[in-house]
Amino acid sequence: MPSATPDVTGDGTTIYDLIPSLKRRHSTRLAAASQPSQDGANNAQDEQDVNASQSSSHLSSPPTEATEPATESKETEVDITPSKRFSFADADVILRSNDGHEFSVHRCILIAASENFETILRNPPTSSKRRKIGNNTTSLPVISTDETGEELDILLTYIYPRSRPNNVRFRHLSFDILLLDRWNILTIRDDLGRQLCSDVFIQENPVAVYNLAKKMGFVDAQHAALKHLYGISFEGNRQYFLDDGIELTAKDLQQIMMWKKEYLRSVMAVVDGYIVPPINHRNSCTKCVSAKQWCWWNTFKKKLHNWNIFNRDTIDKVVFLSLAATECQAPYGDTYKAIKLLHDSLEKEIDKLPVSFE
Ligand SMILES: [Zn+2]
Repeated sequence: MPSATPDVTGDGTTIYDLIPSLKRRHSTRLAAASQPSQDGANNAQDEQDVNASQSSSHLSSPPTEATEPATESKETEVDITPSKRFSFADADVILRSNDGHEFSVHRCILIAASENFETILRNPPTSSKRRKIGNNTTSLPVISTDETGEELDILLTYIYPRSRPNNVRFRHLSFDILLLDRWNILTIRDDLGRQLCSDVFIQENPVAVYNLAKKMGFVDAQHAALKHLYGISFEGNRQYFLDDGIELTAKDLQQIMMWKKEYLRSVMAVVDGYIVPPINHRNSCTKCVSAKQWCWWNTFKKKLHNWNIFNRDTIDKVVFLSLAATECQAPYGDTYKAIKLLHDSLEKEIDKLPVSFE
């Protein structure tokens, strides 16, 4: 089978030399997105050099029996699979994947989506082919890409105004972000970057989220992943750092560990500096009343120093442990108010803390 990537200049330069950021990646997702066509081989017979047929602008030509003459360059051996989802009757360009899938789509949509498409479409390689679709008398330019059919299908799903993939696994979201980045579709890429902040992905693999967010410059996702990492004992845990896709070095890991220490120090400084509001004298715990603050507060602070992370769950657990330890007699209503106060005021202060440091 001949190379699916056209030789632009005749000296071995391909379209990917013009756009160096394009890089092929593989996926097994959406394998069913395009269905094999019964007449794929026949379609291929209509293909010819673009120079042999310079006609242009042939949207929705009326059906006719006329056929264009075959040329020496016809590629009868190419096994073409037209996309089921992206085969528009009024298409004016064909995108071809590196595994023989073809997508009949619209130039204006592609150009609006990405400068990379604009570059290819406005300056098609001179060796580009043309193809007739259906009964049209005229042929459409075929633009070869170095993406698989699955990748082009995902890319077009994002570009066309239709429902986007609902990624629930990190590897799918990561795959899409990298794909959109390769094609310079930055707005959608950044939308997906915001999805990275979700607990769903961070809990699945905080190191991988941090790694991708760092690479792509998604600062919020980086910080969210770091916060999660600070709450678990990731140090020395190889399960987080053995993933193939992780590009973090030992130095990066060391940096995260240092940041974690710094972060926990600053969290504890906030807790230590917290001033307990005056205790209501109607409080039925004599220890609280005589101390003029929650009698469990010092125990709470001491216990908290032993916890990795300070969050909503931690506050609840440590408050109840401290209440038990000091045998506080305060009624549940007072305890509930205290916990709510801690959530509201401490969490707000802690949220303001930096999670990475110079
Ligand atoms: Zn008490």
